[in-house]
Amino acid sequence: MINKTTLKDSKIGWRFDNSYIRLPDIMLSKLTPVPVRKPRVIILNHILSKELGLDFSNVSDENLSLIFSGNLLPEGSDSIAQAYAGHQFGYFTMLGDGRAIMIGEHLTPNNKRFDIQFKGSGRTPYSRGGDGRATLGPMLREYIISEAMNALNIPTTRSLAVVITGENVIRETSLPGSILTRVSASHIRVGTFQYVAMKGDLKTQRTLVDYTIDRHYPNLKGNKNSALDLLNSVMEKQIDLVINWMRVGFIHGVMNTDNMAISGETIDYGPCAFMDVYKPETVFSSIDHNGRYAFCNQPGITQWNLLKFAETLLPLIDKEKDVAIKNAEKCINNFSIIYKKKWLSMMRKKLGLFGEHTEDERLINNLLIWMNAKKADYTNTFLILKDENIFQNDLFKDNEFISWHKEWQKRLIKNKKSKESSLNLMNEVNPLVIPRNHEVEKVLEAATNENNLAPLNSLIDVLKNPYNYRSEIVPYQSTPEPNNKIYQTFCGT
Ligand code: AMP
Ligand code: MG
Repeated sequence: MINKTTLKDSKIGWRFDNSYIRLPDIMLSKLTPVPVRKPRVIILNHILSKELGLDFSNVSDENLSLIFSGNLLPEGSDSIAQAYAGHQFGYFTMLGDGRAIMIGEHLTPNNKRFDIQFKGSGRTPYSRGGDGRATLGPMLREYIISEAMNALNIPTTRSLAVVITGENVIRETSLPGSILTRVSASHIRVGTFQYVAMKGDLKTQRTLVDYTIDRHYPNLKGNKNSALDLLNSVMEKQIDLVINWMRVGFIHGVMNTDNMAISGETIDYGPCAFMDVYKPETVFSSIDHNGRYAFCNQPGITQWNLLKFAETLLPLIDKEKDVAIKNAEKCINNFSIIYKKKWLSMMRKKLGLFGEHTEDERLINNLLIWMNAKKADYTNTFLILKDENIFQNDLFKDNEFISWHKEWQKRLIKNKKSKESSLNLMNEVNPLVIPRNHEVEKVLEAATNENNLAPLNSLIDVLKNPYNYRSEIVPYQSTPEPNNKIYQTFCGT
């Protein structure tokens, strides 16, 4: 089978304008996806298609399968694998797209630029020992969680389609091969900067900084010290992102520097999962033995990754190394202050608090301490604050909770706003439903083992609208049955 075939179908609406491929050769490899035997579409995101200005409704199932497996490339695409490096669990490694190929950048009707990437599309020069493939369960998992994150109003890469390839992939057992079509503002990572910095060519470093500013931070264009300004801007974006994760109880699971996008989108859904019971030390990833990427460590790791980013920018921040370090340090040292301010503001919203009062921090922390001690569910606790009749739970008859609740009521009076505006504020930031691990596992099991996609589609539907009450969401609000099994997630699968 050949994959050079291009699909000439102007009706779909592809508008490719591939800028990354024009960057210096060392940053990428040109190649096409390795064709697969018998592709079949499992899921296609029509809502996202529409947002992108694409229309697949007149394309036959057979052609859809060929398109989303990379067997048939759209006209105007020009596929590449990107080179990057990264600190994985603290250790520096050369990486790159080992199992992903970017087929090009699509411009929406509003001229917004998005990378269209196939994940699981075969070996590349960066595959190292890997087979370049992905399996169905993890690709559907990325689809579910990334789309849920988007609906939760959290910047994220999106998922356009998942196909099965008709080929088996060998992991611990033989599993159905799969390809996910990922859509993102770009795939420029901290690791991309690390890769270029390691090559030591100042001209390429400058090119990457200018390209990134052009694409994601155009307001910095022409600034006197654009590299330093970029560092500050990326830090702001990353702080906002991690605060969003903390807001909904999301644990990324593998915050290596190659999995941190400069655009500020959540990227690379491997061992990620949402926390049920509030426990700051929660870790789900099977390989994160030291809890490096635990829920409560995410802000600190964000700062650590930004420090690595700052290191790559030093020669561009100032010719004098000492001056460059001083300026970069000044920026990174601001992280904690900015984070704390933004975190407090987010938590105030979760509690429906307007204005700033000295007791706020203690009030917020006391609730978290209580939740931790009583093993309260993170998501549902905030829902109970809004409506105490929403769930039957004796936990909230606890004296400590009742006295905290009184303190909270006293603070609410200081809002000097209607109860309704307070509830509206809470509604905006406290989701009614999240992709709970036990539900995600259930639908993946049905899809991968029983070929039954109905539970998957129902879950995806419910997660599309996490802030609005409908009766369909109720079953998905249940917390998992307590059992002794520790939930574990896996990466690189
Ligand atoms: P991840 O854990 O998905 O962020 O992947 C880390 C690195 O390993 C990236 O460079 C991936 O491209 C690469 N990788 C993961 N799985 C495979 C695979 N099956 N074949 C080749 N490379 C892979
Ligand atoms: Mg990755």
